[in-house]
Amino acid sequence: MTMELLYEGKAKKVFKTNNPEEYMIEYKDDATAFNGVKKSEIAGKGVLNNKISSVIFELLEKNGVETHYIKQVSEREMLVKKVEIVALEVIIRNTIAGSLSKRLGIEEGLKLEKPLLELCYKNDDLGDPFITEDHVEILDLVDTEGLDKIKSMALKVNEVLKGYFLDKGINLVDFKLEFGYSKDGIVLADEISPDTCRLWDVNTGEKLDKDRFRRDMGGLIEAYENVVGRL
Ligand code: UDP
Repeated sequence: MTMELLYEGKAKKVFKTNNPEEYMIEYKDDATAFNGVKKSEIAGKGVLNNKISSVIFELLEKNGVETHYIKQVSEREMLVKKVEIVALEVIIRNTIAGSLSKRLGIEEGLKLEKPLLELCYKNDDLGDPFITEDHVEILDLVDTEGLDKIKSMALKVNEVLKGYFLDKGINLVDFKLEFGYSKDGIVLADEISPDTCRLWDVNTGEKLDKDRFRRDMGGLIEAYENVVGRL
């Protein structure tokens, strides 16, 4: 079956399917960072991210979080519900790292007493700027009720994933979520993988995520394989 390409992003392609209510996502091997300024192809990354995302979406569905996920179809392909993406990136942090460390001048690794939720405007041309709830309202990205639902879903995802990863000896440092409008309302969309999460080994602190690429540390595939091996 040849499918019509609907959209190509930095790490994934989205195709139409014969069913108007379903899309197919193909996970690519492309790695990008710093809003696409740094680029590379890392053979095998797409397969690992599809696998990890599938396991996580299944876990979240089991725990009552509605997602766009339908099923993993092949090594690189995931069938999902058709959604219209909300132009918001929701970041949840349990430990200080990355841009938050720079913004606040606090060293990476400080554990937060409670999860910190941040909002960014999903807009590549602007570099996904940090915004507040008032900006969400002014930009009309989602209504108040929708934003409340997104925030509570994001915190629920954190509770489920934090415990799940800790069981596997992994500290869920932070992650980014995207949401979409499906015909049944707002659902969790996009992907959840080491491209979109910071995952640190609990004992050694070893980074098992995309920071290995961002920071030229090498060993990205080995790190993602390490994560798959623990799922
Ligand atoms: N993140 C992402 N996509 C983005 C920005 C951030 O998936 O466009 C994830 C990132 O992998 C990390 C978390 O969101 O797990 C927080 O990222 P941060 O704001 O620290 O930005 P970064 O330092 O990654 O640029």
